[in-house]
Amino acid sequence: MDNENTKLNGKFAACLNCIDGRVQLPVINWITSTYNIDFIDMITEPGMDGFLVDSESELKPLLDKLNIAIKVHDCEEIFIVAHEDCAANPVDFKTHAPNLKIASEKIKDVASKCKVICIYVYLNGNVIN
Ligand SMILES: [Zn+2]
Repeated sequence: MDNENTKLNGKFAACLNCIDGRVQLPVINWITSTYNIDFIDMITEPGMDGFLVDSESELKPLLDKLNIAIKVHDCEEIFIVAHEDCAANPVDFKTHAPNLKIASEKIKDVASKCKVICIYVYLNGNVIN
């Protein structure tokens, strides 16, 4: 489909997010309005922060997708998301916060050229980092 309003060029970032539909738009809106970023390559898993810290998780498929985003779209920032009322990782903020820290260290190890930014999304749309 040809749409003259579709922007084709811009700056990309990658985002490791939960699958939860309630947080997709808040995450995209916050990242694009807070950073000089036009497009988000969204990679999702249920309860992403818990998934990344769980030693049983098979990370390779996720890392393969992340590497495509980094290589093809020159992503310099990687965002990792945790959120309120996460069904797949039903812990409180006190647990999400250290999960995000551990997750960010893991991602920094495999994407050393990228800046890793952790964010927490409340269901009212507020985002903190
Ligand atoms: Zn979730």
